[in-house]
Amino acid sequence: MADAKPMLIGDEWVSDSGAVLKSINPATGATNYAVCAATRAEVNRAVEIAQQAASAPTWRDMLPHLRARLLSGVAELIEARADEFARIQMQENGKVWRECRAQAHSAAAIFRYYAAVCETITETLTPSRGNYVSMTVHEPYGVVAAITPWNSPLTMEAQKVAPAIAAGNAVILKPSEITSSPALELGKAALEAGLPPGILNVLPGSGAVAGDALVRHPGVQFVSFTGGTESGRRIAAAAAEKLMPVALELGGKSPHIVFADADINAAIAAVSDGIFEASGQSCVAGSRLFVQRSVHDQVLAGIVERAKALRIDLPDAPGAQFGPLASFTHRDRISGIVDKARAEGGEVVAGGGRPPFEKLSSGAYYLPTVIAGLSNQASVCQHELFGPVLCVLPFDDEEDLVRQANDSVYGLAAGVWTADYRRAWRVARGLEAGTVWINTYKQLSVSTPFGGFKQSGIGREKGARGLRLYQQEKALYFG
Ligand code: NDP
Repeated sequence: MADAKPMLIGDEWVSDSGAVLKSINPATGATNYAVCAATRAEVNRAVEIAQQAASAPTWRDMLPHLRARLLSGVAELIEARADEFARIQMQENGKVWRECRAQAHSAAAIFRYYAAVCETITETLTPSRGNYVSMTVHEPYGVVAAITPWNSPLTMEAQKVAPAIAAGNAVILKPSEITSSPALELGKAALEAGLPPGILNVLPGSGAVAGDALVRHPGVQFVSFTGGTESGRRIAAAAAEKLMPVALELGGKSPHIVFADADINAAIAAVSDGIFEASGQSCVAGSRLFVQRSVHDQVLAGIVERAKALRIDLPDAPGAQFGPLASFTHRDRISGIVDKARAEGGEVVAGGGRPPFEKLSSGAYYLPTVIAGLSNQASVCQHELFGPVLCVLPFDDEEDLVRQANDSVYGLAAGVWTADYRRAWRVARGLEAGTVWINTYKQLSVSTPFGGFKQSGIGREKGARGLRLYQQEKALYFG
């Protein structure tokens, strides 16, 4: 389609795939634009170009400090265009301006961080057990596919592309069909920063066609995926067929825990932000709130008050705190799950429907919702909604709490509020989760590894070792 946004293969902007995606603004229902979608043919072409780029001596043998300089160049371009990056994400997934802007700057910071890691990470000598010197070195896989979801494309794409490139690979980035543009802008910035053509290729397209073709392609040697657990399972199965390693960052149903001795006001604020920020579309959203019975009613009342006071508005309205969901299909799915929770005996004490404001009526809005009166076994407490729905559950003592909190197939994150540091330590160690926050929530840093226990994922992104995720180890013995 002539006016559809083209995809990036090598240094060519390609628009002749014959398939298109339609980008819809979830805040208004208006069409943003069309985007060219990759088919199997473009996947094959991109893999070929990426293989050539990855094995070219100019890239393969580039010294780390020079590769770092390219990454810093990308960081500077993102920083300089932060408002533009933020605006396209906001238009495509409806996240409020404040959050989009913070994420654009965070994307730049991720490139800067991996530039620093790239030029400072060292190889290791291993203890010798004979008349030789032994060491391990790390080498790139070659072609890496990065497959990303729609909720935070700016940061998640930086989080995969920066370390994979710093590690010496060529990357093919397949963004979510809902949010193609941040990835395309990243491709543009990479070329402008001087990255060799073919080191970052961007293929918008559907998971079923472009995503699946990428995962199964014999020339793709590693897949880094963030998305839902079911998609992750399918990708892992396809990867197993070709014995390809994968990194999977998947869903969550994170427990947020408040003991009676906690700073209750601070806990209420953090629980509310922990579920309602990004309209609940965060993998680490604290969607199951466990409150010690003696303070249950007090905490519930505080959360309900905050949920009702949130400023729900168009994402670019000044002071907007809560925007639409990323798509109408997603909104309808969440609405259906809340109706089912009601039918199962849940008491909806806040939200549970669309906002009653005329100016938001054409957007994919759903109110911040709080449900009480269910057990942890209810389906709304067991399945990830990825929306602004908090289930509040009482607990009696520490043992009861840890058992309930761990009664989930997920294990991405958790939060604990207590004044007793010994209990904080015990509970944090007892929780089956990749990240546990103590008297804080949703603090995330590129320098700290992130990933899930159980069905929340395989592997860890971020941190200096996040670069090693995209390399394989080789042992060298010098006689
Ligand atoms: P999906 O799993 O539906 O999609 C994620 C990406 O994978 C999209 O680009 C999608 O394409 C693609 N995809 C889907 N199926 C396949 C397949 N078989 N082969 C290759 N690619 C495929 O997730 P959502 O986009 O709906 O995102 C929400 C989910 O992401 C939630 O479950 C959430 O918890 C999780 N998530 C996890 C995070 C973490 O770090 N652990 C962070 C953020 C989100 P398409 O766009 O066509 O669907």
